[in-house]
Amino acid sequence: MTETVQKETLGFQTEVKQLLQLMIHSLYSNKEIFLRELISNASDAADKLRFEALSDAALFENDSELKIHVAFDKDARTLTISDNGIGMNRQEVIDNIGTIAKSGTREFFSQLSGDQKKDAALIGQFGVGFYSAFIVADKVTLTTRRAGLTAEHGVRWESAGEGDFTLEMVEKPVRGTEVVLHLREGDDEFLSDWKIKTTLRKYSDHITLPIVMNKSEWKDGAEVPTVEVETVNKASALWARAKSDISEEEYQEFYKHVSHDFEKPLAWSHNRMEGKQEYISLLYVPSRAPFDLYDRERRHGIKLYVRRVFIMDDAEQLMPQYLRFVRGVIDSSDLPLNVSREILQHSKDIDAIKAGSVKKVLGLLEDLAENEPEKYAGFWKEFGRVLKEGPGEDFANKDKIAGLLRFASTLNDSQEQTVSLKDYIARMKDGQEPIYYITAETFAAAQHSPHLEIFRKKGIEVLLLSDRVDEWLVSGLTEFEGNKLQSVTKGDLDLGKLEDEAEKEEQKKAEDAFKSLVERIKETLGDKVKEVRVTHRLTDSPACLVTGDQDMSANLERLLKAAGQNAPTTRPVLEINPQHGLVTRLNGESDDARFADWASLLFDQALLAEGGQLEDPASFVRRLNGLLAQLA
Ligand code: ADP
Ligand code: MG
Repeated sequence: MTETVQKETLGFQTEVKQLLQLMIHSLYSNKEIFLRELISNASDAADKLRFEALSDAALFENDSELKIHVAFDKDARTLTISDNGIGMNRQEVIDNIGTIAKSGTREFFSQLSGDQKKDAALIGQFGVGFYSAFIVADKVTLTTRRAGLTAEHGVRWESAGEGDFTLEMVEKPVRGTEVVLHLREGDDEFLSDWKIKTTLRKYSDHITLPIVMNKSEWKDGAEVPTVEVETVNKASALWARAKSDISEEEYQEFYKHVSHDFEKPLAWSHNRMEGKQEYISLLYVPSRAPFDLYDRERRHGIKLYVRRVFIMDDAEQLMPQYLRFVRGVIDSSDLPLNVSREILQHSKDIDAIKAGSVKKVLGLLEDLAENEPEKYAGFWKEFGRVLKEGPGEDFANKDKIAGLLRFASTLNDSQEQTVSLKDYIARMKDGQEPIYYITAETFAAAQHSPHLEIFRKKGIEVLLLSDRVDEWLVSGLTEFEGNKLQSVTKGDLDLGKLEDEAEKEEQKKAEDAFKSLVERIKETLGDKVKEVRVTHRLTDSPACLVTGDQDMSANLERLLKAAGQNAPTTRPVLEINPQHGLVTRLNGESDDARFADWASLLFDQALLAEGGQLEDPASFVRRLNGLLAQLA
């Protein structure tokens, strides 16, 4: 035998103790959830075995009736949950429950505030899983053997939920996992047949697997188990049942099982699709973003079943990236049972199922947006930035997704993203054609950008885009319902019918009057700028920078460079405000050296105002001080 037989003690990862303490305290008032978590794990283990056995029937070891057994012993004060699922080998035990190296653990800890109420809400979000056993138990003994290994390959894991756990190799004739909870002193609640059954029905009715218990009887005033077993739960796949047969609570509990989330889902869509592809989908939108929404290693998306047989978790081929927060089940009637990830990648059937499912999710979101705007606002806060990846990723549904987007805008100058493109269009000025937006690295930079001055003056609404993903969004979404999306920092500003003849006349005059100044500045700044011109987009600021129509926006260039990526350096256009005192003064400047200082300052401050970085900050400061000294 290669494994160590001796009992050894191993340490948990450092955070585990803190996590366990927090969990025990904050979830104690809701302690029965431990049963849901353990049943959920047993059910997952059965699913995995059934799947592996498709290609290796020997794994069933002549026992293919998968089930979960729950028992209690009043005298020993134990509650035991056993399954004949896939089981674990020694290394799997260490990997799965020896550490808490779940993705998101570190972020989770960084968010803890020390305020128990707030932290309690967080821990639910984090997902408690197996460790929830310690809410009711002061010792947990898990004995397991992986399907296909011989009896002496059993592993026993035991822990008091503090700093460490022990491991030893044991005989385990029956495949699968047995979890024994040694209940805390003084806590007798779960030593009752009735209590266990009601809890199981409440949380685990939807589990496909039968959960069985020995019937109990009263003897000499005490409740004792008999040898007769009964099935406690409904044990039928929830998604295959008729909608009218399923209660809200059942839908919610099922969500918690498939998503490993602790909170209720925000909304769901349950469909039986017929026709070319026959499948059932039950798709949920969570209430809250998981910690690992942006983690590449994230798991738990859509579970794929074929005719009720679990095939795989996180079937990423079934949902596009921008809907990666969707959780649920898709059960196909047509796919072969031996379908693999590789097959999924090139399957037309899967493409059709995916397209149908995406439609359902977008439909669900549209419905929320229209009929339950508050819920939708909550959704947007959590997942808006992910949905914004959509127009660039999913060409076929671009318009639908665009209709679901929400933005901050100059209308209410608040960071809250509440404005839809439809709302915006409805409010457009007479004669306004494009939908105007500005992108910047921060909300404040967008909100205070000099580029907005003329728009504010004329009361033209501009969308304020400051999420990282926004640059990607506007590169994929160039129009909505026939209206072009136009950046206010790009190209020559043409307000078209929004300006009257008198205004246009005045601009023409200013251009003529400042012609030589413009040329002189261009000469002075040289390669720094592509062009210098007189602007009409400014009312208060002396100058601003503009990028060419076809150029990459300055904001995107900065984002890419900050991310260490290659981005072409584009030369901006410097626009000067003919109304501004600094500019008129510069027009009369005869000293060449001083003129050069002024011109550089104009350029540098325009760069600063849009959130850019000066190439040579020290020179900027020196110039500024020089000019200030002349005033003093
Ligand atoms: P999650 O279920 O979200 O993965 P848990 O903390 O509940 O997190 O479980 C951690 C892991 O331990 C599971 O992913 C699984 O690999 C393993 N595990 C837990 N219980 C069992 C069981 N009864 N049979 C087999 N594996 C199990
Ligand atoms: Mg679990």
